[in-house]
Amino acid sequence: MELDLGDALVVVSVLLPIPALCPYSYGVPQGMAVAPGDFVQVPLGPRKVAAVVWGDSPDEDDAKPVDPKKLRAIIQKFDCPPLPEEMRRFVDWLAHYTVSAPGMVLRSVLRAPDALDPESPMEGLRYLGGEPERLTDARRRVLELLHEQEGMAWTRSGLAHAAGTSSSVIDGLIKQGLFETVTIPAAPVVPVPMLEERQIILTGEQAEAAQKLVEVVKKGEFSCALLDGITGSGKTEVYFEAVAAALEKNHQVMILLPEIALTASFLERFEERFGVPPAQWHSGIAPRMREKVWRQVATGQVRVVAGARSALFLPFKELGLIVVDEEHDGAYKQEDRVFYNARDMAVVRASLGKFPCILSSATPSIESRVNAEAGRYAHIKLVERHGDAVLPKLSTIDMRANPPERGKFLSPVLTKAMGEAVERGEQALLFLNRRGYAPLTLCRVCGFRFECHNCSAWLVEHRFRGQLQCHHCGHSEPTPEACTNCGTLDHLVACGPGVERLAEEVDETFPDARIIVLSSDMMGGVSRLRLELDAIAKGEADIIIGTQLVAKGHNFPLMTCVGVVDSDLGLANGDPRAAERTFQLLSQVTGRAGRAGGESIGLLQTYAPDHLVIQAIASGDREAFYEREIALRQSAGLPPFARLVSLIISGEDKRQVETHARELKLTAPKSSDVHLLGPAEAPMALIRGRHRHRLLVHAPRHLDIQAYLRNWMEKAPKERGSIRVQIDVDPQSFL
Ligand code: ADP
Ligand code: ZN
Repeated sequence: MELDLGDALVVVSVLLPIPALCPYSYGVPQGMAVAPGDFVQVPLGPRKVAAVVWGDSPDEDDAKPVDPKKLRAIIQKFDCPPLPEEMRRFVDWLAHYTVSAPGMVLRSVLRAPDALDPESPMEGLRYLGGEPERLTDARRRVLELLHEQEGMAWTRSGLAHAAGTSSSVIDGLIKQGLFETVTIPAAPVVPVPMLEERQIILTGEQAEAAQKLVEVVKKGEFSCALLDGITGSGKTEVYFEAVAAALEKNHQVMILLPEIALTASFLERFEERFGVPPAQWHSGIAPRMREKVWRQVATGQVRVVAGARSALFLPFKELGLIVVDEEHDGAYKQEDRVFYNARDMAVVRASLGKFPCILSSATPSIESRVNAEAGRYAHIKLVERHGDAVLPKLSTIDMRANPPERGKFLSPVLTKAMGEAVERGEQALLFLNRRGYAPLTLCRVCGFRFECHNCSAWLVEHRFRGQLQCHHCGHSEPTPEACTNCGTLDHLVACGPGVERLAEEVDETFPDARIIVLSSDMMGGVSRLRLELDAIAKGEADIIIGTQLVAKGHNFPLMTCVGVVDSDLGLANGDPRAAERTFQLLSQVTGRAGRAGGESIGLLQTYAPDHLVIQAIASGDREAFYEREIALRQSAGLPPFARLVSLIISGEDKRQVETHARELKLTAPKSSDVHLLGPAEAPMALIRGRHRHRLLVHAPRHLDIQAYLRNWMEKAPKERGSIRVQIDVDPQSFL
């Protein structure tokens, strides 16, 4: 494109979805007017890419200065609402906090490139009056409908469908000249929610909580509230009132859910309350639909989005409330390219947009509890279960005193309780966070253990599929008959239980029971899972065996007995969050019981019944758990009382990785406040064929850790060959 390089040349800075450190300068062709936030198409090398005008003046944005002779021009401006200023600031903020390139954050905004062009209107038909020459039954039905709905514009197939005929009947009528063609604007992906659709009567405690949230929404300033209520206390019903209040103020609402593909029940409940479902946003949505949702969020047609963490990057026109459901959930942490926690970024998004944010959980994260106790967040508690529902009675089973039979994994104490529940026509749930049949396979003759070639991980046997699988890289191989090391036939043994093996044991013990196994790698995917969850809720199964999938938010009215097969799993590793995570997971799992009234029990199989976490869960004293865990974090100088940053150095060659990690450490700025731990081989020393070393940065809260890290990275050795350095601020995982 020719650029007029006269005095009138306007140069703007444009942010591109690439890993550059700053926006680039582009010229604005004559006759085009652009403003910050506009979506534009620009040349980049031989390519054309969608990007966003970031600022009026490249100088202010620290854009890379460019030789006027090399300056290239914007190709086109998209006919699309501009990215609001608060979103642009959000992109910059997130990039700054996570020490990543703003363009890589922008990439998340540009996830639906075709949505930048307006939706094409549909061709429609409007009845002009008159009758066809010949009247058949089908034609008569169509005409009756047209008279009934006078003045309405129809699509060809819509009209055929409504009249119960084929499209060819409509074509016949078109030929007779009974219609004019009109354009119908693209249909909204979801209708507008109805505020008064259903009003349940909130209990006293719920009404009080809802009232507080509604007031916050009405005020319309930034604030954050922690809705901290036990499972089944009605948190969802309570925050729906805040959603209604925001909608009433003509604001859009975003509800973040950790596992959206599975939350059919959430969508139904939303629909019960508001008459229509929310728009959905997650990786499982088909591209055409994603474009529509993106576009209609930008135009303001869509009022409520329920989505996964990536919904944070939707270009809302007038967002006025964010709800983060199950705010403690680890699924909110993105650990790929840009490492961020969607829960924390939701709070940032709200503060930049100057509107409230609600974090909801039955087992809040330590971070959120600390913020609430310090008064930074409003702390809204719900302490009663709704209606007749009472929390299950919890107790531990000491596996040393009540061991299972040889080769089995369930204590007689647990099977007895399960049997009694099934006998009464109720349901039992067994929880084990291990997919497959057995976590380890070894050869009885030579002791060889089957390990993944790409990862530091055992291969997990999936007997149903006849495969050994790596749960880290997805590698799988058929289960061999002979040991691949010594060649002996039929001497491989499975060590330890996975859900498949547990199902085998349950089947032997309860031959008449109907058993369902729920695991994220189940064949049939999400749709099958939904069917199974429905079947369970309807009482079409007696015993359910599941991984952590079953812990999340489902309502199983008949569930009265929950057994945790291995409560100790997860407590033993060196992760500072192990206690918190185990507490959250086991509380959520046992919380599945007793949601419809009547007595229910939760039994925890453990070899360490005196462990403080196990004690805290069994005693049901969650406040004591938080108090102790918070005190522990404080005295140990762990987050949220200090900051941690994890640097993962990875590459294909082990020696190079080691060397790079050591050199990286040497370039770290000296600071008496900052402590560097490592580099050391990461606990998962090999993933997908990449060797990994880790450096942990520990700093006091008040330190500007981002400035420290940026300063460091400027001096750090360049990433050479396959070597990569990933920065994870506030790491969740220490593997
Ligand atoms: P939580 O999110 O705290 O686990 P939910 O909001 O899912 O709790 O509520 C648990 C169950 O109780 C749901 O089926 C919900 O519809 C029902 N429920 C909660 N409060 C009320 C109420 N005031 N009236 C009728 N049903 C309620
Ligand atoms: Zn692997």
